[in-house]
Amino acid sequence: MGAMPFEFGGGWIEVVAGPMFSGKSEELIRRVTRAVIARQPVQVFKPAIDDRYDAVAVASHAGRTLRAEAVADIATLRERLDRSTRVIAVDEAQFFDADLVPLALELADGGRRVIVAGLDLDFRAVPFGPMPALLAQAEVVEKLTAICRCGKAATRTQRLIAGAPAHEDDPVILVGAAESYEPRCRACHVVLRGARVTPLFAAGASATS
Ligand SMILES: [Zn+2]
Repeated sequence: MGAMPFEFGGGWIEVVAGPMFSGKSEELIRRVTRAVIARQPVQVFKPAIDDRYDAVAVASHAGRTLRAEAVADIATLRERLDRSTRVIAVDEAQFFDADLVPLALELADGGRRVIVAGLDLDFRAVPFGPMPALLAQAEVVEKLTAICRCGKAATRTQRLIAGAPAHEDDPVILVGAAESYEPRCRACHVVLRGARVTPLFAAGASATS
């Protein structure tokens, strides 16, 4: 395919993983931009659940954007695939179900380059959706870190509801604004477990599901 940072026989899978605010979307945009400059047919997808910004753009927190197709599920993504596409990028991959894994394998087996970006861990630090299987199947894995409030490298996403650490029983999927999540290191990451000491829906709580 030329001008690639890696060269494998057939296709391959690249995973860019890490907590929120670690620059995953930025890195996906950087890789896709290089492929576009190299005149390789590229398609970028993202789950329709993520409506933080433009419905047809992969948006990073730094504000750079890239045109993407928002799809409700993997069956829809499969329908939208063009046979001529050589590079398939998927952002926010943690929100897709397990069907993303066999699709990524099929594409790589078919000689395509598959770039997947997503959260490796949910707010409880539990492997998120199809990400663990994709991390295992990938030829290339890049784990990005953010900066924890203590100044160390953050590998996890702290979920805050009304400014307090979320409980492990709170719903996993809640696409929110910056004030709801913080990057944290292992030592600073807090998940409340067991009996609740505060009401689930305290005044000012941002939970919506
Ligand atoms: Zn820390």
